[in-house]
Amino acid sequence: MSEFAPTERTQVKRLPKRGKYDAETVYKILDEAFVCHVGFVVDGQPFVIPTNFGRVGDTVYLHGSAASRMLRTLSEGIPVCVTVTLVDGLVLARSAFHHSVNYRSVVILGTAKLVEDPAEKMEALRLFTEHIMKGRWDEIRWPNEQELKGTTVLALPLEEVSAKVRVGGPIDDEEDYSLPVWAGVLPLSQTKGTPLPDTRLKEGTAVPQYITNYSR
Ligand SMILES: Cc1cc2nc3c(=O)[nH]c(=O)nc-3n(C[C@H](O)[C@H](O)[C@H](O)COP(=O)(O)OP(=O)(O)OC[C@H]3O[C@@H](n4cnc5c(N)ncnc54)[C@H](O)[C@@H]3O)c2cc1C
Repeated sequence: MSEFAPTERTQVKRLPKRGKYDAETVYKILDEAFVCHVGFVVDGQPFVIPTNFGRVGDTVYLHGSAASRMLRTLSEGIPVCVTVTLVDGLVLARSAFHHSVNYRSVVILGTAKLVEDPAEKMEALRLFTEHIMKGRWDEIRWPNEQELKGTTVLALPLEEVSAKVRVGGPIDDEEDYSLPVWAGVLPLSQTKGTPLPDTRLKEGTAVPQYITNYSR
């Protein structure tokens, strides 16, 4: 798919030129992120729960304990809204009103499906893990039958999707440009720190390259 068709529900209304529907933009945002917020309604009460995700092709995978209320509820096929946000900077204007944030975000609407087939579930967990840390899956012990049973995996197809992107500096009112106030952008980014070895690390176990070279 190269373009998601905007629907009445995914049409960006405020500053519509910031709305993006091309798959490349959507996938790039989803691939840089690994935390989303999952919105769903139970008995008239909306919940928005933060969780990890992985994307492969036109599918977003969610996972967690089989006891999770979120996953149990979503596996019944109720409507879900998944939001992903990347913050790129604080946009500091001369007026309070024109302050803003540079961001890239995606909103996905749909219904998730339970991944039941054990082989498919294992593959989804591999894809989920590799989305968050490429290279990890081949090194770790894979889930055994019991662990697989205790884990719920949901697949959410990317069908009704929008992205919204803000870039650039502040846009002030003409008369405010003469104010002696610093204006511009304070870029913000997530950076990795130095790996902290576990206290029970087997002696001589080196930090793998995929960790030292980690970037998103
Ligand atoms: C960055 C991040 C990544 C995560 N990744 C995963 C994941 O991949 N899989 C997974 O299952 N869980 C993940 N979690 C935890 C997730 O947010 C839920 O806490 C978890 O799914 C437990 O769900 P539950 O069904 O027990 O909670 P629920 O029964 O849905 O929650 C009951 C109540 O607990 C409170 N609550 C639940 N979670 C949170 C929270 N995170 N923060 C504050 N209050 C909360 C809310 O008030 C909620 O209404 C992640 C959390 C974070 C912040």
